[in-house]
Amino acid sequence: MSEEKSLNFIEEIIENDLNTGNYKSIITRFPPEPNGYLHIGHSKAICLNFGLAIKYGGSTNLRFDDTNPVTEETEYVESIKEDIKWLGFNWSQELYASDYFDQLFQFAVELIQKDLAYVDDSSSEEIAALKGTPTEPGTNSAFRARTKEENLQLFMEMKDGKYKDGEKVLRAKIEMAATNMLMRDPIIYRIKHAHHHRTANKWCIYPMYDFAHGQSDSIENITHSICTLEFIPHRELYDWFIKSLNIFPSHQYEFARLNMTYTVMSKRKLLQLVNEGFVNGWDDPRMPTISGFRRKGFTPKSIRNFCEKIGVAKRENLIDLSLLEFCLREDLNETAQRAMAVLDPVKLIINNYEDGKTETLQCENGPTELAGKRNLEFSRELWIEREDFMEEAAKKWFRLAPGSMVRLKSAYIVKCESFEKDENGKITTIFCSYFPNSKSGADESGIQVKGTIHWVNAQNALSAEIRLYDRLFNVENPAADERDFKEYINLNSLEIISNAFVEPSLLNAKIEDRFQFIRKGYFCLDKDSTKDHLIFNRTVTLKDTWSKEAKKTD
Ligand code: ATP
Ligand code: MG
Repeated sequence: MSEEKSLNFIEEIIENDLNTGNYKSIITRFPPEPNGYLHIGHSKAICLNFGLAIKYGGSTNLRFDDTNPVTEETEYVESIKEDIKWLGFNWSQELYASDYFDQLFQFAVELIQKDLAYVDDSSSEEIAALKGTPTEPGTNSAFRARTKEENLQLFMEMKDGKYKDGEKVLRAKIEMAATNMLMRDPIIYRIKHAHHHRTANKWCIYPMYDFAHGQSDSIENITHSICTLEFIPHRELYDWFIKSLNIFPSHQYEFARLNMTYTVMSKRKLLQLVNEGFVNGWDDPRMPTISGFRRKGFTPKSIRNFCEKIGVAKRENLIDLSLLEFCLREDLNETAQRAMAVLDPVKLIINNYEDGKTETLQCENGPTELAGKRNLEFSRELWIEREDFMEEAAKKWFRLAPGSMVRLKSAYIVKCESFEKDENGKITTIFCSYFPNSKSGADESGIQVKGTIHWVNAQNALSAEIRLYDRLFNVENPAADERDFKEYINLNSLEIISNAFVEPSLLNAKIEDRFQFIRKGYFCLDKDSTKDHLIFNRTVTLKDTWSKEAKKTD
């Protein structure tokens, strides 16, 4: 982070806390519920929590918020850890809210002993009916007056499995007339005879989110507990538990969640896309998950820069996906190795180039000299892009057409002499002549050409499959209205090209290696790829063809 940048509101709070000695050092945490894969919204919370700890010399815990036994799976735990590491962050401790079940149970007992909690036999409907409304106070439950002793005994029996799901709950005894509805004797423990992914069948009562979350923060001495805006009403309860139990004073602060155009961001919705087959798994390159972006070829740095750019706000807004892509292009332009690939090949034959001859040319690997050069073989028969040829040149057409000249990237200037078509009128072969003294880097021909096109050598090019992705949704905000968000799915979000050709050096590419295919965009090697069947995903086009600005100038 640069020094001149002004502080965001959380940084201001932290600096104040450190300066006044409220806390000696800071500890933050990232608390995912392991019920799905992380999405780009989570990366904002990750960059924020880990970023603050790095900036202020503190530490960050990874805490799995696994208090709900039914939705959590080990697969999700593993994927979450992998994604955070990939983004470039290290947690100081890997923790599980379920590790605190004994301690949380003790806290509940303590509240009962302080007459600050009671066992309620009411059904959830009855509890809801007595809750009141935002304008009318609630009504005390008939069970509110139970003695501490009775409450203690009943709570032990709940724990020991004497009751069925829903038969009893433990509620905090706060204030049924509180303005904040969450303070109207919230439920803190419920009975759930369910298997838990870590504690197995040890427990049949589970703490509710509000009771588990703040106390877990406190147990870990979290100083700044940062969460999204919807938790603002929960803060009062968070503080009440900490005060009533007289435990470490963690504090909760809220920021606006990230929403992004052309995506949905809730794990529940993403799970539907996976389960209903709209995508091929959580890491499908069209998914807004971290693993999806990774598989598509995004870099961790581009995501971190994006999170830095959008900053931390207290008001929700919708961020343009193009901003993320901008950050990506910025990074890939510097780091992606250059290569040549022809996506829609047509044969080009150089009449005056000796048959059987090959020569080795030098080609730059990247935008700076640091990237170095690689060898590329050139010979009489090449593949070029079909769209780089026009039978009848249009105005300002600088590429190939009968009689016109172009430079073949890193090679020679060629002039189109003739072409052949098949019976359907499709161009099959383009015949050219070349100028032997026009070699790149040693051009003595004096010929000026306006166009440069890419090519691969037909003798040794590798065939490849290329997957082109588009937005997964047709509208900017698919979750904005009452309609099912799946109605807005773009059914043409994946186009597969099975007959592309790429230069031979790509045989050595490793899964996730990123390339700029000159003039075609950024691509990476997909995990389905093998040496016999190369598969590249298009990460992003070279230019933004979606944003309004780009459309205007097209
Ligand atoms: P979802 O609704 O997608 O399931 P969640 O909030 O339930 O999200 P958690 O696993 O509970 O997901 O989230 C872990 C952390 O990530 C929380 O601190 C949460 O506030 C934060 N987070 C989740 N979604 C976003 C988002 N879109 N923008 C910023 N932070 C987010
Ligand atoms: Mg959640």
